[in-house]
Amino acid sequence: MARTLPAAVQTVANHLLANEGYLWSTFRREGVTCLVCTTQVDAGETLCKQCTGHRESGIAIADQVGSLIYAPYREQSYHLVKNYKADAPGPNLSATMTSLLAVGLKGHQECAFKLGQARAEDASWAVVPSLSRPHRPQPLLGLVAGMAKRPGIRMRAADEVVNPRSLRPANFVVEPDQDPPDFSILIDDSWVGGGHAQSAAAALKLWGVRHVAIFNVARVLDPTWPATAEFMSKYKAERTFAPLRCPWTEGNCPL
Ligand SMILES: [Zn+2]
Ligand SMILES: [Zn+2]
Repeated sequence: MARTLPAAVQTVANHLLANEGYLWSTFRREGVTCLVCTTQVDAGETLCKQCTGHRESGIAIADQVGSLIYAPYREQSYHLVKNYKADAPGPNLSATMTSLLAVGLKGHQECAFKLGQARAEDASWAVVPSLSRPHRPQPLLGLVAGMAKRPGIRMRAADEVVNPRSLRPANFVVEPDQDPPDFSILIDDSWVGGGHAQSAAAALKLWGVRHVAIFNVARVLDPTWPATAEFMSKYKAERTFAPLRCPWTEGNCPL
């Protein structure tokens, strides 16, 4: 755990704890959840099948992945990460997403720098572009840009996108209007299988970023899979929001 959060982030976290009781922080535990994406794994495994496939592909993918909360289909957390980007989301959904981004990014970005052996001044950020609605403004970009001190790396969907959920870096284009930074946080709202975000991470690595850390607000869970339903019921008592738990590690912030 982090010892403390910056005061402004703690205030935001307290508001979430008081008002958004459904929030469930992800956790990493060997043999229980995937050490990359935090979904449940078969007993004794360390990675889920999808993360294993990405790792075995030979493509340079993200060096770190962090996820803040679980979002089981049909639950309120899934409604949040899906509908904050609707045409008229209502102010509460945007505010809650902004608060979660603040907890994950402002509360734990130093952790990502430490794990990546990077300096804050050499770090940049990007948002995973939408492949399903490439020509629409992306609400997540607005939320992150509002929080960032500097403009980020501009990325977009390629003109030809093939199988958006597969691991295919060519689905993304990096706008070459700056030199590649040493380190980048790559932000997305939700992770289902990870192919989408990992492809964007791979595009950044191919462009020349040394270390890419993907930050997801939510790891989506599908309870129609029996193993997922079993996981959700087994860990029901641990369904709490823990803003001090590091989204990048097995719990403790790196020293
Ligand atoms: Zn995984
Ligand atoms: Zn941390």
